[in-house]
Amino acid sequence: MGRVLIVGAGGVGGVVAQKCAQFPEVFSEIVLASRTLDKCERIRRQLSRPIQIDQVDAGSSREMTALIRKHAPDVVIQVALPYQNLAIMDACVETGVSYLDTACYEPPDQARYSHTWQWKYDEPFRKQGLMAVLGCGFDPGVTNLYIAHALKNHFDEIHSVDILDCNAGQHGFAFATNFNPEINIREVTAVGRYYENGQWVETAPLSVRQTYDFPEVGPRDVYLMYHEELESLVKHIHGLKRIRFWMTFSQEYLTHLRVLQNVGMTRIDKVLHQGVEIVPLQFLKTLLPEPSALGETYSGKTCIGCLIEGVKDGRIRKVLIYNVCDHAASYREVKATAVSYTAGVPPVLGAELMLRGIWSGAGVFNVEQLDPAPFMERVGRYGLPWKERFLDDDAPTGWKA
Ligand code: NDP
Repeated sequence: MGRVLIVGAGGVGGVVAQKCAQFPEVFSEIVLASRTLDKCERIRRQLSRPIQIDQVDAGSSREMTALIRKHAPDVVIQVALPYQNLAIMDACVETGVSYLDTACYEPPDQARYSHTWQWKYDEPFRKQGLMAVLGCGFDPGVTNLYIAHALKNHFDEIHSVDILDCNAGQHGFAFATNFNPEINIREVTAVGRYYENGQWVETAPLSVRQTYDFPEVGPRDVYLMYHEELESLVKHIHGLKRIRFWMTFSQEYLTHLRVLQNVGMTRIDKVLHQGVEIVPLQFLKTLLPEPSALGETYSGKTCIGCLIEGVKDGRIRKVLIYNVCDHAASYREVKATAVSYTAGVPPVLGAELMLRGIWSGAGVFNVEQLDPAPFMERVGRYGLPWKERFLDDDAPTGWKA
C-alpha cells in the first residue's frame, strides 16, 4: 500500500523497521537509511522480509532530498536524532513527501528543545498539501493521545494532567541510558519546568521528588522534569490549569549522573583535548553502551501513563490511562528494550493512519490535534495495549505521602 523511508538505525529505528516489516499489507516497501550503513545492515539481517538500506547524513537537507528522490517514499519516519528534524522537513517540502517524528527539534549547541522551530513549517507543509506529524513516540506521542482520548470520551474539560513515566527494569550495566545518551542526558540535566495557572514554574534539575504507586510495578520515586509535550499540550488542551511530567530514575543512575556532571563530562560546549576540540558529552556517548545493545539482558517492566483530572457534567472526575510493557517480551519480539519498543511502535501506527488517509490534513500537527479514536482502537494490536482506571472521589490516585 505504501513505501516508507525510516531514517535512523538505532534502538528505536530497529523497532520501527521490525514493526513495518510485520505489516506488509500497509508497508509494501521499506527503506532504512542512517549515518552508518553497517547498523542498517545489522537490522536488515534480523527482519523476516527484505528491505532496502542506504547511507545518509540526515543533517544535510541536500543529502536527504537526494535520498527521498532516489527511493520515492510516501512517508518519512524520522527516528535519528532531533537535531536532524529541520533538514528532513526541508527535504520533505522540497520533494513533496509527508513526515512524522518522535521528538522535537533541539539545536545541537543549546540544550533547549521547543516546537517553535517545527511549528514554523506549518505554512510550507500547508502550501504543498502535505502532512507533518510531530512527536508520535510514546511520550511524547501515546501520552498525548491518552489525553485527547480522555477529553473526547470522559471529560467536558481537563484541568490537571500528570504524565508519569516509569522504567522499573534492570539492564545489568553500571550506567547506561535507555535512549540516545546525548539526548537523554541533555534532557535529564535540564531545569525542571511545569505549567500552573497560566504560568511556567521552574525548578532546579531533579530537585522535586514524589512517590507514585504504578500499576503492576509498585511504588517508585518520580522526579519532576520538563518535557516537550508540555509545550504543545498547554497550547492545544483548552482549560488546562496544571500539567507536569515525572520520570523514575534509580539511585545508581542518579549517582553516576551527579559524578559525570561534577567532572564536566555532560558539558555540550567544545573543549580542547590534546589539541583537538571535543564535546565532552559526545565523547561520553562513545563510551556508553548503545541503547540497541541493552535489550538482551534487560528484565522488568515499564509503566507509562497519564493521571488526568477534570469535570464531566459538573462533577469532578479522575482517570489513569496507562500501558505496561515488558523488557524481555519486547526483546523476544523485536530484539529491543521496552523503552525502544514503546517509542518505536507508535510512529509505525501513525504512519499507517497517514498512509490510509485516516489521519489527514495539510500542515504541521502535534498528535493531540488528531483524532485519537483510530489510534486507540489499533494500538493494542500493534503491541501496546492500554488500560484505564476511573478513580472515584475517595479512591487513591497513586500518589504516596
Ligand atoms: P540511538 O542513538 O540508538 O539511534 C540514533 C540513530 O540515529 C543512530 O543509528 C545514529 O547513527 C543515527 N543518526 C545520528 N545522527 C545521524 C545523522 N546525522 N544522519 C543519519 N543518521 C543519524 O537513539 P534511539 O534510537 O534510542 O533514539 C532515537 C530517537 O528517538 C531519539 O532522538 C529520541 O529523542 C527519540 N525517542 C523518542 C521517544 C518517545 O517516546 N517519543 C523515546 C525514546 C527515544 P550512528 O549510530 O551512526 O550515530
